[in-house]
Amino acid sequence: MSNIVNIRPDRTPVELEFIDRLVGRYKDTGPRYTSYPTVIEFSEHFTEDDLLGYLEISNQNEIPADLSLYLHLPFCSHLCFYCGCNKVVTKNQSKARTYLDYLFREITYYGDLVDSKRAVRQLHFGGGTPTFYDVEQIAAILEGLDEQFYMVSDPSRDYSIEIDPRTVDHNYIQDLASLGFNRISLGVQDFDPEVQKAVHRIQDERTVNKLVEQARSDGIGSINFDLIYGLPKQTIQSFSRTLDRVIESSPDRISVYQYAHLPERFTAQKRINESDLPNTRTRLDLQKLTIEKLLVAGYVYIGMDHFAKPNDPLVKAMSDGSLRRSFQGYTTHMDCELIGMGVSAIGELEGCMYQNAKTLDEYYMDLKAGKLPLRKGVVLSRDDKIRKQVIMDVMCHGRVDKRAFRTLYEDDFDLYFADEQPALDKLYRDGLVDYGPEYISVTEHGRYMLRNIAMVFDRYRHSLTSETRFSKTV
Ligand code: SF4
Repeated sequence: MSNIVNIRPDRTPVELEFIDRLVGRYKDTGPRYTSYPTVIEFSEHFTEDDLLGYLEISNQNEIPADLSLYLHLPFCSHLCFYCGCNKVVTKNQSKARTYLDYLFREITYYGDLVDSKRAVRQLHFGGGTPTFYDVEQIAAILEGLDEQFYMVSDPSRDYSIEIDPRTVDHNYIQDLASLGFNRISLGVQDFDPEVQKAVHRIQDERTVNKLVEQARSDGIGSINFDLIYGLPKQTIQSFSRTLDRVIESSPDRISVYQYAHLPERFTAQKRINESDLPNTRTRLDLQKLTIEKLLVAGYVYIGMDHFAKPNDPLVKAMSDGSLRRSFQGYTTHMDCELIGMGVSAIGELEGCMYQNAKTLDEYYMDLKAGKLPLRKGVVLSRDDKIRKQVIMDVMCHGRVDKRAFRTLYEDDFDLYFADEQPALDKLYRDGLVDYGPEYISVTEHGRYMLRNIAMVFDRYRHSLTSETRFSKTV
């Protein structure tokens, strides 16, 4: 059993004071650890030959891993000012059609490289706005995948698509269900009209609620809401109202991301008025409010930014130790290798990770030349693999088992991480972790600061040249 501690809703003033003190001590920036090493460590020296070598190795494993496919569909018809995604804002459908021609080439390329007996257990269409495409185009992509990969149809599959509620109607949702999607993720962000105006994403709450009802009646088994806290004009009162309405809609999973304001990296964010942004204290209060309200409503806190209903597979995975963190957040498909396709998509095989070209021009150029469109990647060293495991244990299970470490790596945990001990001692003194000869465990308060705890084990943190490349941890 994992050691996840759910945060009690009955927080006392003493505990609030405790959290206040932490804000001062941990005003740091850091990765969300959807991977380790993080994308910032990917190098342009990673080549197509490297990737082909790893694909070959994974095909030849005695039992090759099942697959998770990620397809990046970058087009959006409107710009949201908070956006940090790789997207192309356009009304021009022909641009999106051209993109599909190239995406099919990449699908075929990978289809030829991957052992056709490897089952695709997980599929995710992300963006951008995947629903920029009409249902016929989405069906054509699925057909293309089906020709090249072994797409499974059993109920344990996890086939999901991100939906912009402003772009779809009932028929669209019905068609997605009949095409085999069993999960949808709705971009909700915030229901408050002032916040919506400030981020340039106006969407009617009734539209969202109607879509949820329709998706349920069409048999979509799992509905996720994406929310964001830390947006301009957000207040405790306004976000509290949004959370109440979300709870009424009763989605199966809720992801509540912290807004990362990095206007130097994401140009769209320059249009956000910085004086409208909540301060650090309010951001932390928003996070606390979210956790408390969702727990009272019966959701289970999976970690960092994810909540799920008690009967959700994520909760089961959390209990039996099989929960993992991937580029799409928390996942139950721990054993799958990820093949990312589309502009800027990321893939992860046993031993390496890669990322595709980020611009359409570069992406098209490589595929036209008959090459995989990857631009950078990383080969994981033994040290990377060890630290990755420890960071995943912190992020997913709130516990590191030093005995299991010794068995797995034939190394003593305390000796291996001797340099990290002073940082661990600080976390211990601040009440964020507990530790003994055989374990490190995250305390109830530490659940607020998972990124800070994981960072202790990140070898690359000390060599970062620009802290602003990551978002604030609180
Ligand atoms: S937030 Fe989503 S819908 Fe909005 S511009 Fe970015 S990718 Fe497009």
